[in-house]
Amino acid sequence: MTQNTQEKVLALFKECDALLQGHFKLTSGKHSEWYFEKIRLIRKPDVLDRIVDLLVGKIEAAGADFDTVVSPAYGAIAIGFLAALKLGKTFAFSQRVDGKMSFRSGFSGLDGSRAIIVEDILTTGGSIQEVLECLKEKQVAVAGIHVLVDRTAGSVLIEGKPVGSLLALKVEAFEPEVCPFCKAGLPLTKPGASDKK
Ligand SMILES: [Zn+2]
Repeated sequence: MTQNTQEKVLALFKECDALLQGHFKLTSGKHSEWYFEKIRLIRKPDVLDRIVDLLVGKIEAAGADFDTVVSPAYGAIAIGFLAALKLGKTFAFSQRVDGKMSFRSGFSGLDGSRAIIVEDILTTGGSIQEVLECLKEKQVAVAGIHVLVDRTAGSVLIEGKPVGSLLALKVEAFEPEVCPFCKAGLPLTKPGASDKK
């Protein structure tokens, strides 16, 4: 992915406030310069449309043959759906039922097909791994895995391979005692606090 595309994606993420830059207290208690408010990706459909255009360009460039775009619920549904629409493919989403990733029975046409997985943000790769296992059970061949943002900047491997992303951003988190932003006297924000009143 070119530097140019990374910059475009970064600008679009900022445009819909899905990526905030500052000094944030994460739920882990650590401090970070970056905060993803990923639900905001779907709040401005016109911005998401432009982000997905870039993703589709990348998927097309990969040249894989597939029938269906699959995304894990819920954040990635709008992204995978839009990508499927633009690519002229079918779409399905997986969801956890009693803790196990699965597909609704209405998606039974998936069995034996070829699919790509589209996810919003790669943090640990856990959800993607669960989707992969679920697809394997259905004899679905996975022809590619694409994420908008790789927060690990390529350090998480899925089935031994790095995942393709539009934006690779290594998000460092610091213990408060060693936080450079605290040292610089920047005010600390606790994101999401206003949602929990
Ligand atoms: Zn700090």
